[in-house]
Amino acid sequence: MARVTLDTLRKEFDRGTIVAVDDLDLEIDDGEFVTVVGPSGCGKTTTLRMVAGLEEPTSGTVHFDDEDVTDIHAKERPVAMVFQNYALYPHKTVRENMAFGLKMSTEMTTEERHERVREMAEMMGIEDLLDDKPDELSGGQKQRVALGRAIAREPEVFLFDEPLSNLDAKLRTEMRAEIQKLQKEFGVTAMYVTHDQEEAMTMGDRLAILNDGELQQVGEPTEVYQNPVNEFVAGFIGSPSMNFVDVDVETDGAGATIRNEEAGLDLDLSAEYVRGHDLRNGRYTLGIRPENIVLDESPSGDENLRSTVEVVEPIGSDNYVHLTVTEDFLARSPADVKPEAGDEVGVSFAEEHIHLFDPETGEDVF
Ligand code: ATP
Repeated sequence: MARVTLDTLRKEFDRGTIVAVDDLDLEIDDGEFVTVVGPSGCGKTTTLRMVAGLEEPTSGTVHFDDEDVTDIHAKERPVAMVFQNYALYPHKTVRENMAFGLKMSTEMTTEERHERVREMAEMMGIEDLLDDKPDELSGGQKQRVALGRAIAREPEVFLFDEPLSNLDAKLRTEMRAEIQKLQKEFGVTAMYVTHDQEEAMTMGDRLAILNDGELQQVGEPTEVYQNPVNEFVAGFIGSPSMNFVDVDVETDGAGATIRNEEAGLDLDLSAEYVRGHDLRNGRYTLGIRPENIVLDESPSGDENLRSTVEVVEPIGSDNYVHLTVTEDFLARSPADVKPEAGDEVGVSFAEEHIHLFDPETGEDVF
C-alpha cells in the first residue's frame, strides 16, 4: 500500500484564468481514509484526477511513498477509481465488466481471473448477477459491481469521486458502511471526494476541506467540528449550519462583554475563559451551533437575548426552532421544549460553545 503526498499541487485552466487547485499540500498515510470535501467547483475532482493521472498538474508533484508519479501515465499507477456514474460497460455482463480491469492491469490466466471475479462478487453479494448486463441492475447493485471491479485489481490507492450521489438516502448509508469496511479490510489508502459534509464527517479518518481551490483545514472529523480554523469551515461542517451574528467585543482587562444592540444580545465572558486568547475591542462575528443554544419558554431576564419564534420543525427526537436574531437563527432543542410560532423565548449560550471570527479574514480567534 502507499502513502500519498501532494506537494504544492496546482492546476490552472484556460491559460491561468481559472485556478482549480491552488498549491495544495496534503499527505494521506498508508492505509488511511481521507475525505476531500467542499462546495461545487472548489477543485475536489480535479485534485482526485491529478492523483489518478487523468489530469496533468500545472505545477507541483504527486508521490506514492517515495516515488514521484507526477509524470507517470494513469494506466501505470496502482490506483482504482470509483465514479458517481459507475462507469460500467453497458454491453458487457457483470462478469466481463469485473474481469476487464484485470485483463488491463495484470498478467493472470483466464482461470485465475474468473476465480478472482467470483471471489469479489461473493464479497460484494452480487454473485447471482454475474451474467446480467448493467441496465438490468439497480443503482446500488451497479455501484457494488464498480466497487468489486476496483478492489479486484488490488490497487494501492483507492479513489472515489462522489460514488454514492446517485443512490437514495437509505442505500447511501448502507454503502458508506460497506465502503469503509472494504477499505479497512484491504488496508488500501483511500481518497474520497464528496460535496456532502455529513458523508465526510462519517466516513473519513480525517477530512480535508477545500474552498476555491485552497485547502482550508485537515483533521479528524470531531476536531474540525469542534475547532474550525475559520468561518468558512465552521459554516460548512455541521448540519444544520452554525449560526452567525455580528457583535461588538469590549474587553475590560480581565473578562469581556459581547453585544449586539439591534438583537438585544448581551453576553459576558469570564476572565478565566478570555485568558490566553488574543481578544481586542472591536467587531467580530460570533458563531454558535444550533445544538448549543438553550431556549427558555418563560424568559427570566438571565438569558443572553430574547427572540420571537418564527417556525418550529419537529424532527422526532428534537425540534428545530427558527428565530430571527438580525438574521435567521436556528436552535435545536429537546423534544419537550416546543414553543409555538409567535412565542417570545429566552436564548442562552454557554461561553465554552461560542466561536469568534475575525470579520475581515474569517479566521477563528476564539
Ligand atoms: P463539483 O462538486 O461540482 O464536481 P469540484 O469541487 O469537483 O466540483 P472541479 O470539477 O475540480 O470542482 O472544478 C474546479 C474548477 O475548475 C471549477 O471552476 C471548474 O469549472 C474548473 N474546471 C474543471 N475542469 C475544467 C476544464 N477541463 N476546463 C476548464 N475549467 C475546468
